[in-house]
Amino acid sequence: MKNIGVLALQGAFKEHIDMIKSLGHNGIEIRKAEQLNHLDGMILPGGESTAMGKLLKDFGIKEVLKDKIKNGLPVWGTCAGMILLAKKLDGDEDAHLKVMDIEVRRNAYGTQLDSFATKETIEGVSEKEIPMVFIRAPYIVGMDEKVELLHKVDGNIVAVRQNNMIATSFHPELTDDATFHEYFINMIKEYK
Ligand code: GLN
Repeated sequence: MKNIGVLALQGAFKEHIDMIKSLGHNGIEIRKAEQLNHLDGMILPGGESTAMGKLLKDFGIKEVLKDKIKNGLPVWGTCAGMILLAKKLDGDEDAHLKVMDIEVRRNAYGTQLDSFATKETIEGVSEKEIPMVFIRAPYIVGMDEKVELLHKVDGNIVAVRQNNMIATSFHPELTDDATFHEYFINMIKEYK
């Protein structure tokens, strides 16, 4: 059984915890830096990245979390979580944890199509189609060659992996399909 933390300062953390538990693992709500010790993996949920970025600082978690990720803690950012991981944000906003070599555009789908759902197969993740829910989602507008492309939707990069880090624009925790959570847990098991 793996101990998987979910940043629980703001946003859709409960849904991730429920998914982790449904797969037989220990999902832990993280609100203090000390809790980051003894974790096997960490999820940064969807929500509002500006608020979450500020709370990370206010709760004294930011630098500790950044160090842990740099030292190999497996981490997965969904939606706002992707924004937190990026080294660069499109426009003149300051990035947050700055650990992943991606440039992310917030609210990239604009106001006309700010939320939508689709179902697609992600090669290397599973052979069946996975439901993908996008809510005022970001996508990736630039990435280093160190970053592996996992998936594009309509030509836009919505899922990537770089060593111990995964980022997705969509929210698997808001569907009833645990495939992506299983993929992350397998990555935790394999990653050294
Ligand atoms: N639009 C949000 C942001 O920029 C992200 C939305 C989400 O996480 N569903 O932080």
